[in-house]
Amino acid sequence: MERVIRKQLLYRTGVEYGDYALNHVLGCAHGCKYPCYAFLMNKRFRSINYDDWVKPKPVDNTIELLEKELPKLKGKVGYINMCFATDPFMYNHPEITKLSCNVIALINSFGIPVRTLTKGVYTPDVAKVTNHPENCFGITLVSLSEDFRRKYEPNAAPVNERLRSLFAMHKCGFKTWVSIEPYPTPDIIEQDIDEFLESIGFVDRIVFGRWNYGRLNYPEQGKFYHEMASKVIEFGKKKGIEIVIKKEVVISG
Ligand code: SF4
Repeated sequence: MERVIRKQLLYRTGVEYGDYALNHVLGCAHGCKYPCYAFLMNKRFRSINYDDWVKPKPVDNTIELLEKELPKLKGKVGYINMCFATDPFMYNHPEITKLSCNVIALINSFGIPVRTLTKGVYTPDVAKVTNHPENCFGITLVSLSEDFRRKYEPNAAPVNERLRSLFAMHKCGFKTWVSIEPYPTPDIIEQDIDEFLESIGFVDRIVFGRWNYGRLNYPEQGKFYHEMASKVIEFGKKKGIEIVIKKEVVISG
């Protein structure tokens, strides 16, 4: 597996629900076709093509950089997010999972929690290395349909595996969350959001966002996203789940 070297890893993020973040891998094997924002940025600024993007390259000096950067953040940071521009638990990439486990253990050793997000799966090793009560483990899930998954998230973990592994983290006593973004409009896929929400009713936090990139022809998208967001909010109230509705969903109305 090819590797890259970086000068810096941790950065303050401008993302709505962010804080600090790191991307210890360049590229992502999941190869989402929404398309993936991180891929588009790398294509634009680094001329990386899709075939390159789906061959992940770990940052070789990850641990060395974090050992230098983390002491400066001790006591000054809420969460470190893993990751906004790659996937820390890439499906069928045990070497990436192993590196991510080492990263979590190191971050936690400075008393800092992590908030992770994946379209892969959490293996039992993740539960073993984690050592902070505020760690929060998440999956991205926008549809229960395997046909949708195969078309738009071709190399990501099957929906049921993703859900099962998140539920296992929940059963181990960890905080869990789901990012429902980019939620598709009915012209992309017809689905029942109530059934969808019931499948993730065990989590502590849900973030809901609209379909952002590429073609979106659905005529009543503002109305549609308002309805979906209202259902997510209602579901959160009923189940005692923290809900975050991304700004552009509200503006789109
Ligand atoms: S999982 Fe995330 S980082 Fe990876 S290709 Fe899909 S959207 Fe991009």
